[in-house]
Amino acid sequence: MSTYQNFIAGKWVQSNSSKTVANTNPANTDDILGLVHLATREEARQAVEAAADAFRSWRSTPAPRRGRIVAQAARLLEEHNEELAQILTREEGKTIAESRGELQRSINVAEFCAGESRRLTGETIPSELPLNFAYTIKQPLGVVACVTPWNFPVAIPVWKIAPALVAGNTVVFKPATLTPATGVRIVELFEKAGIPPGVLNLILGSGSEAGDEIINHPAVKAISFTGSNAVGIRLYEQASRRGAKVQCEMGGKNPVLIMEDADMELAVESTAQGAFGSSGQRCTATSRAVVVNSIADEFVERIAKRAESMRIGAGVDPQTEMGPSVDESQFKTVLSYIDVGREDGATLVCGGSRATGDGLDKGYFVRPSVFDHVTPDMRIAREEVFGPVLSVLRVKDFDEAIQVANDCEYGLSSSIFTNDAARIFRFVDEIETGMTHINSPTTGGEAHVPFGGTKGTGIGDREQGSTALDFYTELKIVYVDYTGQKREGNLY
Ligand code: NDP
Repeated sequence: MSTYQNFIAGKWVQSNSSKTVANTNPANTDDILGLVHLATREEARQAVEAAADAFRSWRSTPAPRRGRIVAQAARLLEEHNEELAQILTREEGKTIAESRGELQRSINVAEFCAGESRRLTGETIPSELPLNFAYTIKQPLGVVACVTPWNFPVAIPVWKIAPALVAGNTVVFKPATLTPATGVRIVELFEKAGIPPGVLNLILGSGSEAGDEIINHPAVKAISFTGSNAVGIRLYEQASRRGAKVQCEMGGKNPVLIMEDADMELAVESTAQGAFGSSGQRCTATSRAVVVNSIADEFVERIAKRAESMRIGAGVDPQTEMGPSVDESQFKTVLSYIDVGREDGATLVCGGSRATGDGLDKGYFVRPSVFDHVTPDMRIAREEVFGPVLSVLRVKDFDEAIQVANDCEYGLSSSIFTNDAARIFRFVDEIETGMTHINSPTTGGEAHVPFGGTKGTGIGDREQGSTALDFYTELKIVYVDYTGQKREGNLY
């Protein structure tokens, strides 16, 4: 069994901590991948100090050379694609097809960021004074902390680490405790790609100790966090008190609107994919279907049939359509939300329990579940379940659908199924989410397109795409006066 190590100042080091956590396959709890020693606060401090020491030299490395190392990391990710996909499926539980998709997204992001290293451009601005001009340059921030969740343990770290490095920052990366193996492998590949000592550091430790130490360290100038609202908001409060820059991508309660003219087959298949793919453990998962009354009976009947037909099992089997919840705690949370739905008076149409038998008994499998007649005040219409549970809310028309969809604290993703152009444009205008899809699932995104949410979901700049480097750079404004003379008059 592997014992995972921290990576500090270019060396793999064993933690002194006696607190350990087993890395367990959620599809089969007899399968232990390795052991994490939860890093101490002192070890977390060492990682931040190593990153601070490495900053001066890394910031003065020309950006295209930094990009070349990230491009090499992309090539290595590609070379080790299948190996990483297998680890990801075993560690997190998603299907092998989903893992391969996540790997491809990570490679694409790293390639995109490597290219951006040649475009770290500023503006030249004509001055209102003769023989003067002004321009801007983008500069790195310093030490950046990348704190990531377990549900996309390859893609999310890569989409933070790659732009942070290209921009000239040094990084302390703290992955989720549940997914250390993928975190270690990513850092090994960046090391092999030629990252100098101290530029990228890895700390495997609990959020409440090692994570807390990192985000509160005065040398950490920026924090890019993806995870739950409870943690993200606390971290934002703490870090902003000392003026650190913070970017948080947090929860979602993503609606799909299904109008009377929708292509029903497409709407059902896309909603099933969005709701039950990755076992519902996606920030962009479809968790609310807002359906107009006239087609609601047909939609509910068909989505329930599709849910019941989902092939549940270990993700390594290529026939599997849905894997387990990530661990016992998440599994219990999902089942408890199913109880809440029942108690609040929603109608459980299918699922609603643990999936057992046929190789499932040693894993945390929940049957894909659909609740009908959910009302906007119910907890299963408002709170993130992060499991394969879909709430159907019936509405009379498009206007009510928009109002119900927007009646939510989160604002990550959404979609609509209709062929009515006027409704599509009104939907795009009025829906309160950072991303939206037309006639496709709420899930999915591309490496070169910005990603992120509004309202209670997102704080700070959008990740990925043309905006990926905004968070990781600071704009310096430069005025050049080549008159050689004292300036007359006032300039602010
Ligand atoms: P958590 O918020 O529990 O954890 C996220 C990360 O923060 C982990 O590395 C965790 O460490 C760390 N952490 C926990 N407490 C602290 C602390 N006090 N200080 C510093 N770091 C801390 O989220 P989950 O891992 O459970 O991920 C699921 C959540 O992520 C869902 O809400 C989901 O919606 C959201 N998410 C959002 C996305 C988006 O783009 N909007 C994308 C993907 C997920 P540890 O593991 O040790 O607890």
